Amino acid sequence: MAAPAQNLRINGDRLWDSLMEMAKIGPGVAGGNNRQTLTDEDAEGRALFQKWCQDAGCTMGLDQMGNMFARREGTDPEALPVYVGSHLDTQPTGGKYDGVLGVLGGLEIIRTLNDLGIKTRHPIVATNWTNEEGTRYAPAMLSSGVFAEMHTQDWAYDREDAEGKKFGDELKRIGWRGEEEVGARKMRAFFELHIEQGPILEAEEKDIGVVTHGQGLSWTQVTITGKDAHTGSTPMPMRKNAGLAMARVLEKVDEIAWSHAPHAVGAAGHIDVFPNSRNVIPGKVVFTVDLRSPDLAVITDMENRLRVAAEDIVEEMGLQIEFEKVGGFDPVAFDETCVAALRNAAERLGYSHTDIISGAGHDACWINRVAPTAMVMCPCVDGLSHNEAEEISKDWAAAGADVLFHAVVETAEIVE
Ligand SMILES: [Zn+2]
Repeated sequence: MAAPAQNLRINGDRLWDSLMEMAKIGPGVAGGNNRQTLTDEDAEGRALFQKWCQDAGCTMGLDQMGNMFARREGTDPEALPVYVGSHLDTQPTGGKYDGVLGVLGGLEIIRTLNDLGIKTRHPIVATNWTNEEGTRYAPAMLSSGVFAEMHTQDWAYDREDAEGKKFGDELKRIGWRGEEEVGARKMRAFFELHIEQGPILEAEEKDIGVVTHGQGLSWTQVTITGKDAHTGSTPMPMRKNAGLAMARVLEKVDEIAWSHAPHAVGAAGHIDVFPNSRNVIPGKVVFTVDLRSPDLAVITDMENRLRVAAEDIVEEMGLQIEFEKVGGFDPVAFDETCVAALRNAAERLGYSHTDIISGAGHDACWINRVAPTAMVMCPCVDGLSHNEAEEISKDWAAAGADVLFHAVVETAEIVE
């Protein structure tokens, strides 16, 4: 496969202008965006993306989950397409770049190929996955998940928002429910460009993060039972303080995560204390321990050590404990050929780069189950995302899209 010439670049100004144009749809209250999935604003954003794609000569596909596919033909009718994309939906107080950069980066690749009159053997398809964010309809990455057979379509259609409106009904209402069977498409590869949503690239002054793995996740819900008692009149030796036991367990969670530095992390984000009264020693606590690592063996080790340590703590204190695994997914290892295409592209283009682990879930994590997949990231200011103040520079966006462009075009094979 011939790599694109070193001087081939996307049009960074045009990419930036398109990002700013899209950001006018569903403006937030503080300079960002509120373009939640299956709202009228989502429909408007989709229509603009479709218009741009059609203006670039693409034919549009739409499946029954509302996933959008803008196809630029290749020269070989038998060749599997190279897919590239992300999501146009945002958080209620979201930024202008999370997801959008990956979708419009795909469009920019097609526009650049048109400008330069470059033909590829494989078609290239710019993609918008429906409901990546999962705010209005849980879970996140819902439609790429149906595409990759992680969920059934009927189950997805039955998801309800806070007002009880079903996903399937709202998709139809906004006019973006297609006829095409979900997951029927076969891919040569899938590439996703995304902002980092973390602080590493900016801190290390790298232009590009080549994502090798996605973090795996384990949620264990822990219930510790002691005895409610008066905080003033119960002598210290007679207390069954479930809150204290939890505090000791959480110290262990922190210690266990640190023991697998730098990539493992652990914390309890959800904590309920009962009865949660100022003058009652807590008789019961329920909390969820969130453990993550790109290595499945590390996750398993952390889960086991958590159980042993927590059992020791409560036994010594004379309390009871129960564990329930309430969620999780395995770590993702992206396709080595696709990862190498991105790394080589960054090298060829002269951008500083580093391998990186994605701490957040992305559509690429699901698509990786059904097609060779990789992700590339650009920095974002202070690592801030899911916030209207989310910011990137025009140069960062262009560098990320350049690397995406080279990897996609190399995989799609330039026809000389
Ligand atoms: Zn995103």
